[in-house]
Amino acid sequence: MGPVPSHARAVIVGGGIVGCSVAYHLTKLGWRDVVLLERRELACGTTWHAAGLVGQLRSSHNLTRLARYGAVLYERLEAETGQATGFRRSGSISVARTAERLVELKRGASMARCFGVEVEPISPAEARRRWPLMRTDDLAGAVWIPGDGRTNPIDTTLALARGARQGGATIVENVTVTGIQRARGAATGVRTDRGDVAADVVVNCAGMWGREVGRMAGVSVPLHAAEHFYIVTEPMAGVTRDLPVLRDTDGYIYVREEVGGLLMGGFEPAAKPWGMHGIPEEFRFSLLPEDWEHFRVLMEQACVRIPALETAPVRRHVNGPESFTPDNRYMLGEAPELRRFFVAAGFNSVGIASAAGAGQALAEWIVGGAPGMDLWDVDIRRFAPVQGNARYLEERTKEVVGLLYAMHWPFRQPETARGVRRSVLHDRLAARGGVFGVVAGWERANWFATPGVEPRYRYTYGRQNWFPCAAAEHRAVREAVGLFDQSSLAKLRLEGPEALAALQRLCAADVDVAPGRIVYTQMLNARGGIECDLTVTRLADDAFLIVTIAAAATHDADWIRRGIAGARATLTDVTSAFTVLGVMGPRSRELLSRLTPADLSTAVFPFGASREIELGYATLRATRITYVGELGWELYVPTELAQGVYDALVAAGGEVGLRHAGYHAMDSLRLEKGYRSWGHDLGAEDTPLDAGLGFAVALDKDGFVGREALLRQRDRPRARRLLTFTLDDPEPLLLGDEPIWRDGGLVGRITSGAYGHTLGRSVGMGYVSHPDGVDAAFVQSARWELEIATERVPATAHLESPYDPTSARVRA
Ligand SMILES: Cc1cc2nc3c(=O)[nH]c(=O)nc-3n(C[C@H](O)[C@H](O)[C@H](O)COP(=O)(O)OP(=O)(O)OC[C@H]3O[C@@H](n4cnc5c(N)ncnc54)[C@H](O)[C@@H]3O)c2cc1C
Repeated sequence: MGPVPSHARAVIVGGGIVGCSVAYHLTKLGWRDVVLLERRELACGTTWHAAGLVGQLRSSHNLTRLARYGAVLYERLEAETGQATGFRRSGSISVARTAERLVELKRGASMARCFGVEVEPISPAEARRRWPLMRTDDLAGAVWIPGDGRTNPIDTTLALARGARQGGATIVENVTVTGIQRARGAATGVRTDRGDVAADVVVNCAGMWGREVGRMAGVSVPLHAAEHFYIVTEPMAGVTRDLPVLRDTDGYIYVREEVGGLLMGGFEPAAKPWGMHGIPEEFRFSLLPEDWEHFRVLMEQACVRIPALETAPVRRHVNGPESFTPDNRYMLGEAPELRRFFVAAGFNSVGIASAAGAGQALAEWIVGGAPGMDLWDVDIRRFAPVQGNARYLEERTKEVVGLLYAMHWPFRQPETARGVRRSVLHDRLAARGGVFGVVAGWERANWFATPGVEPRYRYTYGRQNWFPCAAAEHRAVREAVGLFDQSSLAKLRLEGPEALAALQRLCAADVDVAPGRIVYTQMLNARGGIECDLTVTRLADDAFLIVTIAAAATHDADWIRRGIAGARATLTDVTSAFTVLGVMGPRSRELLSRLTPADLSTAVFPFGASREIELGYATLRATRITYVGELGWELYVPTELAQGVYDALVAAGGEVGLRHAGYHAMDSLRLEKGYRSWGHDLGAEDTPLDAGLGFAVALDKDGFVGREALLRQRDRPRARRLLTFTLDDPEPLLLGDEPIWRDGGLVGRITSGAYGHTLGRSVGMGYVSHPDGVDAAFVQSARWELEIATERVPATAHLESPYDPTSARVRA
């Protein structure tokens, strides 16, 4: 074995299906000087023993967009490369044992319609006609996805590798990457057991070794392996080659044909993490020991669905490790810790189906210097550093495997690895009935159980048990005052002689305001898409406080760090230093005035002002701003003073109707008021003009990133626009991803939705597109419907927010 190439434009670590796909797509984009390094042989890690299911429908809009391409590419790869993939478009059937599961399947079918994936609800009888060995008398229904397929994982990997070689890539097997070379905050190459390779870009495609390879670079790659099982039977009567893939997720299982028999695997509710003490050196084309006891739950359920399995001889039991992430979505993108170090790993048992889309998207990102589409769902920057903790990952992995097929209940919260990040008010809120959800490891009170209501979630697709509690919280905010613990907000302090100039370049709004003012702004990419949606408070001539949502903390800090590179300005994460209390509602001034000597009248403390005040024993920053559409203040309290401030607010609050309020109420309140949420209503493909945020953009300010794109867009008809919708019928619930129909034509999808308790009906937002422009006439002259679980429901479209469109209440 000779030395490896000494230099490459891109070095890919790992020759599983994902690494080969990245190499293939890089060459397609014209990068010929690509080197892929594999420690043993191609596909020898997890890829070789995969079941090969290629499904298209995923839990979100963008994941489905990415997964769709798998079936397309694997179907045509043989003609292009001469290497067969084994892909067959067998179609798939998903069955529902319960009415609620059928709602879930139908909601998925509706979502799929938005991007052209054909999904057809079918009766149990029709399901049986397509899958004769299946028992159907206990089923509530099923859906049929004709475009789904299956492929041979090894052959597909080899076809991608051959395509990459044909495009100029060099693939070297039996070489282990032992280190990542770095200089000035960027990856510069890899160290291997056969010499060093200098590179402009390093890509970590090391599968379940990905966390280790990340550590070589000082990069957190939060994944953990778990055992994953299937069996293959001897040939069975009634099993034909063209049998569709069958998923019975209520029974945790999937089934497909394999050489005349059945391959049956699944995702058990309590999984077995693996590899806590490292992955054995010799692990190649390896399997883990059989564990029939653990597999029993899947076997029993499979026999319920396919009685013939009870007597079918089992030819093979496969137990192979696969890597899982804390939220069941894979990781893509440039690491925030190290420039030019990219990651594509943690594929949660859908790596075969996803490798095509993920490889293409990452290659575009590498070559173009930015993602070609909104990849937030899989962006590695969605994780907080704490989520890379080994114990956290091991615990979460026990649960997350089963969640693949568990009910995807709206608002479902994980049960493992909880209590990781807690506000100092956590115990006080819990004592008040707080029921917590989790975002980026933060525990956040989503709702408060009133006396007599059990303080835990009871999930359903209908109104959940917290609905009346959140309704009461909502009303308190509209009519009196609500208290929100918003400590999970990420707080970043930017200071230095060039802080202002750097921010002016990054922000679409003019942040050159007087100290003591807060500015709501977006940070845009060169296409004008919204990368960050945040507030900037000017603390002093050369110091700013930047506040963003917890989910975007890592992402936004990374965006800003890149944006200020070279400027004499320092960014410091001060999140832990401040507890944030939102005091919101028409009586908030009255409440705060009982505790502070400061004058809070609009004349002295107008909307958008931010200043230090004394409150109780504390001195804190009070900022007049709102995300719920009412008069209110956010209080930034030094953490060690927060319990005292909270106690004082609660003690004084009784007389003004203070009520604790959680994030479910906040969502309902903000949607009624038309406030957007980044990651849902705003993202890298949406410009402020699309999003109706033109008021927040200072187009006359020179030189901010994205300005040119906005100027070009300004002079064209507004072909795409975010509208607010209310349902005419007060019963149905909007959750997001519902298709939007205008006069019988599909024109968009809902990006977020909730029940609006003041409006007395569901309210949602969604982008609507039309080449001639989306203006008032377009909105008013039409018949609107939203599709919920395949049923169309009449709706009203609004250009303005349906609640307090003039913001009179906010500025009161
Ligand atoms: C039992 C089972 C069934 C599955 N069924 C399906 C299915 O039906 N459909 C589906 O879509 N997915 C399925 N999956 C998941 C799928 O197999 C994986 O998601 C996918 O193979 C992951 O590919 P990868 O390239 O990320 O990882 P891998 O295939 O593990 O590739 C990573 C490679 O990196 C190499 N490597 C690691 N460290 C180094 C280093 N330091 N230097 C050089 N090389 C290194 C390894 O040797 C390995 O070959 C299944 C998984 C299992 C376990």
